[in-house]
Amino acid sequence: MAKCYMCDEESTSVEHSPPKSFFPTDKRTNLITVPACKTHNEDTSKDDEYVRNIITMSIENNQTSIDHFFDKSLRSFQRSPGLTSAIRNSLKDVSFYKLNAKSFQLDRPRFDRVIRKIAYALFYKKYGYTWERLLAATTNQLKMEDMTNDHLGDLFETLSDDLNELKLKGENPLVFQYAFIDFGIDKNDKALFMLFYEGFPFWIIPDKTSNQNSFD
Ligand SMILES: [Zn+2]
Repeated sequence: MAKCYMCDEESTSVEHSPPKSFFPTDKRTNLITVPACKTHNEDTSKDDEYVRNIITMSIENNQTSIDHFFDKSLRSFQRSPGLTSAIRNSLKDVSFYKLNAKSFQLDRPRFDRVIRKIAYALFYKKYGYTWERLLAATTNQLKMEDMTNDHLGDLFETLSDDLNELKLKGENPLVFQYAFIDFGIDKNDKALFMLFYEGFPFWIIPDKTSNQNSFD
């Protein structure tokens, strides 16, 4: 068996990345997998679903996302009263681009953990070695309470200036595409762009001062 994508242990299974639940059953061509050890193949399907539900709610996504929301996310909300009430209890009226909308509080640490996991797996798949960096995730789709961007929002905007130059990869582009760029000279200094459902982007930025990896 190959070694694990996160550590030097031998792998005992394979992990799908992004998780299978993000992909409608008719859009699962050559899903990406990586080898994982016992520690790193922990069952995170509840967290995966949580993130999938939030991402598919974005109104900037494509029809595949809307269909998947009604097919899977809505049912998943109905099955988990905890998630629904967590959102309902934190609903607020907000004004966003002069639209009246509702906002809710997000468990960002839980959310980012899933996103980082995907990033580590994609890196291992592409380069064949473990991404030995702590990672930060930034997106313009999740707003702070005052409706400003997250703490890396400026970096997100800067990196996104040349999106057209990126050669996005992904065999199910309606669900997921990604691209790496060099972000420095060290073999770990790459940044990763990920795009879900053609509308929900992330930049994953490595912390250059770190030389370890962690989902947390
Ligand atoms: Zn491992």
